[in-house]
Amino acid sequence: MCDCIFCKIIAGEIPSTIVYEDADCIAIRDINPQAPTHVLVIPRAHYANLTEAAAADPALVGRLMRACTEVAKREGVSEDGYRVVTNIGVNGAQSVQHLHLHVLGGVKLTERMA
Ligand code: AMP
Repeated sequence: MCDCIFCKIIAGEIPSTIVYEDADCIAIRDINPQAPTHVLVIPRAHYANLTEAAAADPALVGRLMRACTEVAKREGVSEDGYRVVTNIGVNGAQSVQHLHLHVLGGVKLTERMA
């Protein structure tokens, strides 16, 4: 039994707003957006963070980055620019221990967000 909130979202047990999905990942709107566009790209496979995923399946990490670019296009922020962030561990202030990439845009980002 997985006690991970993002695993539960992927399983459809917790509601979310999905803006993109493919074989590797889903992309959902962040529940507490830090920018006009704030989407989380979440792999279906459970990895605690980028370090773990890159060691186990580096090709997946590349496909997740590509998914971020696809999300940015669909959200209409690709041309003006956007930010992709992943927080790792305690010093990275990671709050959900399932790898996710924040896609932030729709405003000029001047400081750390997400
Ligand atoms: P991090 O601090 O990098 O681990 O980011 C976790 C993100 O998940 C935060 O931006 C939260 O707002 C977001 N979050 C937590 N629970 C949910 C949820 N149920 N649906 C959407 N986003 C969520």
